Amino acid sequence: MGDSLKIQLRNMPANGWQWRGSVPAAELQDATRGSVDALPAGGSDLAWEASLARKGDCYHLAGEWRVTVRLSCSRCNAATEATLSGRFMRDYRMGEDAALDEAEPDEERLPFPGRIDLVDVLREEVWLAWPQRAVCRPDCRGLCPHCGANLNQASCACADERDDHPFAALKKLMDGTS
Ligand SMILES: [Zn+2]
Ligand SMILES: [Zn+2]
Repeated sequence: MGDSLKIQLRNMPANGWQWRGSVPAAELQDATRGSVDALPAGGSDLAWEASLARKGDCYHLAGEWRVTVRLSCSRCNAATEATLSGRFMRDYRMGEDAALDEAEPDEERLPFPGRIDLVDVLREEVWLAWPQRAVCRPDCRGLCPHCGANLNQASCACADERDDHPFAALKKLMDGTS
């Protein structure tokens, strides 16, 4: 499976290539492979569908993907999961220097024989879709900023000292209680 995702454009048949299936999590997470950062452990295999076709000197790759990844909750740090998905489109131009000079700005230039590691392409897409923040559940109460207690599991003694909080006076003002 692994090497079938390392392609060379020069080997592409006239009717192009199509893929449909899943890329094993182990390949996406293999830090020794590729040049794009590996995905972190704990994610699922990636389901995908894509095709690569030639239009003149341009090679057009298009597809979609879906994967479940493990994240930490931004509020309480608990492990949580998210399913990410996306569509992608990439244009490549392969050739010697002169041919590459004619590439459009949005085309990726690849010297002959046009090596592409599709694992890297997919990793890049997953990273682009990676959420900045994740929560384990919409009403996660997070950790107490004072003692670190997980407020989903228990309340902490800090609640009694809340009036000492630097913003306590402000909060009272805003609540209209002073
Ligand atoms: Zn949480
Ligand atoms: Zn506390």
